[in-house]
Formats: sequence, C-alpha cells, structure tokens
Amino acid sequence: MKTALITGASRGIGAAAACALARDGWAVVVNYRSSREKAEALAAQIRQQGGVALAVCADIGDPDQVESLFETVESQLGTVGALVNNAGIAQQKLFTDITPTEWDELFRVDVKGVFLCCRRALPAMIRRQEGWIVNISSMWGQVGASCEVHYSAAKAAVIGLTKALAKETGPSGIRVNCIAPGVIQTEMNGHLSPEMLDALREETPLEMLGTPQDVAEAVRFLCSPEARFITGQVLGVNGGMVI
Ligand code: NAP
Repeated sequence: MKTALITGASRGIGAAAACALARDGWAVVVNYRSSREKAEALAAQIRQQGGVALAVCADIGDPDQVESLFETVESQLGTVGALVNNAGIAQQKLFTDITPTEWDELFRVDVKGVFLCCRRALPAMIRRQEGWIVNISSMWGQVGASCEVHYSAAKAAVIGLTKALAKETGPSGIRVNCIAPGVIQTEMNGHLSPEMLDALREETPLEMLGTPQDVAEAVRFLCSPEARFITGQVLGVNGGMVI
C-alpha cells in the first residue's frame, strides 16, 4: 500500500483530501499542528472504514519538525509516495498594516512549509522514479486579493514552485501539480458574514460556494494513474470565479 502525506489534514480541505485518498487505497498520514483531537478522530474514522491512517503532529514551517514527521511516517508506513501540501494560514488586513513578523509567519507556513516537505519527500520519490506532489495554492495567488497581499504573494510563490519543480523532477517520473481553490466553506472563511458569503456566491458563475470535497476530488484525481500525463498545472476549483 502506498503512503500519502497530507499536511494540515485535521480539518477543512486537508481532512477531505485524506478521506478521498484513503478511499482510493492510500495509507494516509493526517498531519496537524494543534488540533490533535480532530486529527486523531479522523485517523480513527478512516481505520474503522478499513483504511490505514496515522495522525502525526508537526509544524510544517519548522525544519526539525518536518524531519521528525517524515522519520515517524517512514518507520510506521514506509516512504511517502504522494505529498499533498495543503497546510496553510491566511490573514486579512490592509497592506500597510502588515508587520514584518506577520509577513514572515505567513511565508514560513505557506511557502517554506511546501519547500521543506517537498525537499524531504523527493529523494525517496526520485529513487523510486515515481511520486505525486499536489500543492494547494489559491485563486488569489493567480489574480491577487485586496487586503490579502501577503497571502496572495505566498500563494503565487506556490504556483511558481510547482511549475519549476515539475520541470526539474518530471524526468524522474514525479508529477507536481497545483490546485487553486476558490471560496471553499471551511474554518478559514469562518470570519466571513452570511452577507459576504452571499455576495461571493453571487459573484461565482456556478452560483455556489465550494466544499472541501470539491477540492479533495481534484487532489484524488491528480494523485491517480489517470493523471499520468499531467504535471506543472494549476487546476482551478473555483466555480468559474477565476477563468
Ligand atoms: P483550515 O480549515 O483553516 O485548515 C488549515 C489546516 O492547516 C489545519 O489542519 C491546520 O492544523 C493546518 N495548519 C496550519 N498551520 C500549520 C502548520 N504550521 N503546520 C501544520 N499544519 C498547519 O483551512 P482550509 O480552508 O482547509 O485550507 C487548506 C488550504 O487551502 C490552505 O493552504 C488554504 O490557504 C487553501 N485555500 C483555502 C481556501 C478556502 O476558501 N478555504 C481557498 C483557497 C485556498 P491545526 O488544525 O492543527 O491548526
């Protein structure tokens, strides 16, 4: 059984991606930073349904914690065959109010975390001449969002990383793709009022908001043999909001 590591899988998009990959036969690693109970409960639920799942705590922006995350996974489930770089943080404020500390923290988690996990996963993938990496960016990384300049810049960096890494590792049989979700109903959007959510729904050509499952299905596809000829791409899962 191949192992898929999903960062930030205690809730939201990451949790749905872990369930989808488990249904597809992957042994899944449910990484989390602080939501231990939710991550353990999700792993237990997947095991109850006949799957293989392990919850592992690690701050993916910290090189030492990423190293111990991979050591734990390799000792219990073997090397990582698919890496879903999903963990992320967001913040809304005026550009001129963003402090250097806030800028660094957002890039530490949203960009350096992707770098650290890819860097640690790749040697084993290259040895096997096979691997799947799916990075979760955002439509704001494609078109920019007002009052989310650091988030938009970080998510644009993830798109650049995806394209360059796909070129570098394609000859080793590794597919590196990116998903750019639109508005997805998760805790990350918990600060939005019902009126704001209605306005976003109206702005979306399909006139609905996305669910974590909508993104999870795209992750599952990009980690499947059916996606064998796809690498370096940015797949919008956004109801048509960015085309
Ligand atoms: P969410 O509900 O806020 O969940 C975030 C997840 O990331 C949690 O599992 C959290 O773990 C984990 N996490 C945060 N910082 C971490 C760190 N340093 N190390 C390890 N795990 C960490 O977010 P979501 O909406 O599912 O978003 C998932 C991804 O999709 C993010 O990259 C986000 O930017 C992107 N995205 C979301 C939307 C949207 O509308 N929701 C749209 C576009 C892109 P704990 O629970 O332990 O804190």
